[in-house]
Amino acid sequence: MNAGTPALEVADIHKRFGGLEVLKGISLTAHDGDVISIIGSSGSGKSTFLRCLNLLEYPDQGRIALAGETLRLQPSREGGLGPADPAQLNRMRQQIGFVFQNFNLWSHMTVLENLVEAPIHVQGLSRAAAVERAEALLAKVGIADKRSHYPAHLSGGQQQRAAIARALAMEPRLILFDEPTSALDPEMVGEVLQVIRRLAEEGRTMLIVTHEMGFAREVSSQIMFLHEGRVEEMGPPAQIFGQARSERVRQFISSHL
Ligand code: ADP
Ligand code: MG
Repeated sequence: MNAGTPALEVADIHKRFGGLEVLKGISLTAHDGDVISIIGSSGSGKSTFLRCLNLLEYPDQGRIALAGETLRLQPSREGGLGPADPAQLNRMRQQIGFVFQNFNLWSHMTVLENLVEAPIHVQGLSRAAAVERAEALLAKVGIADKRSHYPAHLSGGQQQRAAIARALAMEPRLILFDEPTSALDPEMVGEVLQVIRRLAEEGRTMLIVTHEMGFAREVSSQIMFLHEGRVEEMGPPAQIFGQARSERVRQFISSHL
C-alpha cells in the first residue's frame, strides 16, 4: 500500500495572515488508501491547513504535491505566494474533493443538478453520463429519492450526504472533510459518519478534520494532532489514543471521550 508515488505530499508549509503565523511548518505524506484524521483545539490551524491543501489558500512557504506533481507558486501582488500556472492549478484542484461543515450545496439547484454541474462544465462529461454517475452516487449515499429536491427541503444529514456525493462526482484522488458533522443535529451525525466509513472501507484517500474521536480512532490509518500551527504528535490511532507521547494530546483525548 505504501509503494509508489504518494497521493499527497506536504513539506514544511507555513501560512501567515498579516502578522499572525497560523501554520508553522507542517509536513504530511498520504498514500493511496490512507485515512488521516486531523484533531486539535479550535484555532490550532486545522481549517487553514485543509484550505491550503484544497488550493483555496496558498502557503507562504513549503511544498504541496499531488500524485507527484508539485504546485508551482510565485510571489503574488498581495504579498505571500500565489499560483504560477492557472492551468496547473485547475488540473490539480480537480483531483481534490472538499466537504464543508455547512454543506455548501447550491441552493438554487436540485440535488441532481448539484451533482452534474461540475462533471459537465469542468470535466466536459456529457449530460447523460453525468446523470448516470450522479444517480449511482445518490443511491450509494442513500438519497436516490431526493434527486429532484432542493437542498432546503432536505435534512442536514441528507444535505451533507448530497455534498459528499457531489464531491465524489468529480472522481477526486483525495477527499478533504472539514468537520463534516459539526453542523448536524446529533441524530444525524451517525448517517453521515456511516457514509464516510464506507468510503474508508473502499480505500478512498481522505483527510478528515473531526471532533468525533471514536470515529477517528476507528477509521483512521494515522491521526495528526495540531497545536498552535504545529504537529504536536502524529501516529496510528493506537498510539494517539492509547499511549500518546505528548501530555497535551493525552489531556485532549481524555477530555473528548
Ligand atoms: P481551526 O480550524 O483549527 O479552528 P483555523 O485554521 O480556522 O483553526 O484558524 C487558525 C487561526 O488562524 C485562528 O487564530 C484564526 O483566527 C486565524 N485565521 C484563520 N483564517 C484567517 C484569515 N482568513 N485571516 C486572518 N486570520 C485567520
Ligand atoms: Mg476549523
